[in-house]
Amino acid sequence: MTELMMRGFEGALVRPEDEGYDALRAVWNAVVDRRPAMIARCESTADVVAALRYGREAGLEIGVRGGGHNILGLPVVDDGLLIDLAGLSTVRVDPGSRRAWVGGGALLGALDLAAQRYGLATTAGNVSHTGVGGLTLGGGTGWLARLHGLTCDNVAAYQLVTADGDVLRVDANGHPDLFWALRGGGGNFGVVTEFEFRLHPVGTQALVADLYYEMEEAQAVLRGWRDLLPDTPRRATPMARVGSWEEFGGRRMASIGFVWVGDPDEGRQLLATYSGIGRPVAQQVSELSYLDLQMGDDEIEQHAIRRYCKGHYLRELPDAAIDAFLAPGNEVGARLAMNLGAIADVPPGASAYSHRDALVEFTTSAGWTDPTEDETRIETTRRYAAGLEPFASGTYVNTLAEDGTDALRRVYSTPDLTRLTTVKRQYDPTNVFHRTHNIHP
Ligand SMILES: Cc1cc2nc3c(=O)[nH]c(=O)nc-3n(C[C@H](O)[C@H](O)[C@H](O)COP(=O)(O)OP(=O)(O)OC[C@H]3O[C@@H](n4cnc5c(N)ncnc54)[C@H](O)[C@@H]3O)c2cc1C
Repeated sequence: MTELMMRGFEGALVRPEDEGYDALRAVWNAVVDRRPAMIARCESTADVVAALRYGREAGLEIGVRGGGHNILGLPVVDDGLLIDLAGLSTVRVDPGSRRAWVGGGALLGALDLAAQRYGLATTAGNVSHTGVGGLTLGGGTGWLARLHGLTCDNVAAYQLVTADGDVLRVDANGHPDLFWALRGGGGNFGVVTEFEFRLHPVGTQALVADLYYEMEEAQAVLRGWRDLLPDTPRRATPMARVGSWEEFGGRRMASIGFVWVGDPDEGRQLLATYSGIGRPVAQQVSELSYLDLQMGDDEIEQHAIRRYCKGHYLRELPDAAIDAFLAPGNEVGARLAMNLGAIADVPPGASAYSHRDALVEFTTSAGWTDPTEDETRIETTRRYAAGLEPFASGTYVNTLAEDGTDALRRVYSTPDLTRLTTVKRQYDPTNVFHRTHNIHP
């Protein structure tokens, strides 16, 4: 077994009996508890090619892990081969051309850190220990998305290892069908060993504003917040939340606010408009660096907690949807975050991301530690999301907590799913890369 693998493989192989195996098979969501037969810790594109070839020859089920944040832990495969990309974490930035070359296993924090040395950034998610790989391949939202588009909209080129072990440069001119599919279609088409990103001069500053309200006032406040959305500058990502905050004695409250990337004084002008909505019982406004913004939720979203989440896109936010968002009996936290802006500048069908017309994304998530609570926590989260379902236009693949074709129909439009299937058939006809939200060939 090992001899085969040794052909061209220079990384480390870790098996169940080896030290460090349990730490290496663990992912962000502690509910995931699977035992691969072998973990191939790749250090290079050549390692990925060798591991993939070996896995296929040995008939092993194969999973590919970037940052390990998929809620279902899809890459971790019982008795199979886990191709671990954590060693491909190099980030190189050229400030002159405003480009970044990022390893397929890098975490978002590494990209932000390298780019911010020059006051540059590209759209990245809100928790720095999330993987660039899975986030970008599914689309990628973040505080810069309304200004600069999704993370995938900022990819100029991919280095991709295909199911056959070929190494391709994929861009708008080379393999344009794959270039289309990789922008939203997830890890279905191969292993990305390097992303080439466009960066933008965003400066290094940010402002976060939140205004908190008693639940009795929340309905009127949320309607006022919704009515402001069309006039919101692209530097701002408006958000509304319901939750129980310790600083308010743990009682259920609602908040509205926004994240502003850029000059905080400009952001404060929007705050003045927000302050005219209802009677907030408290207000939290912080000026912070862009890097601190990007790490602000790192701790609350820490590893080794049991997790579940559900999400929907909504094209509109009618009063009835606001009522469902605020409905009593929903004990989990939830938020609405505005999309559109530059996300919607890309025409529908131009990439495999199907929900550019969504006004807001609803997400609700639960975190707990006691396994005996799994069922009730998951059920509570599902029930909350079910209340918003009648208003939903679809779901984001990167928050999808179910597998299967029905789920994919909520992620992709029918034409996009048909086209993804065609590309899949061409590049991965035997479905090697199925430990994903799987497009069947
Ligand atoms: C705490 C937290 C915060 C989040 N915040 C955001 C956010 O702000 N914006 C947002 O858009 N999403 C966000 N997400 C969702 C996130 O995009 C997904 O969980 C995504 O799958 C994470 O990618 P990963 O590489 O860490 O995960 P993994 O579990 O490693 O991979 C996810 C999928 O992508 C595949 N994959 C990963 N890397 C590669 C690669 N290089 N080549 C080929 N396939 C690959 C895997 O095989 C798997 O199918 C967040 C998730 C968490 C847990």
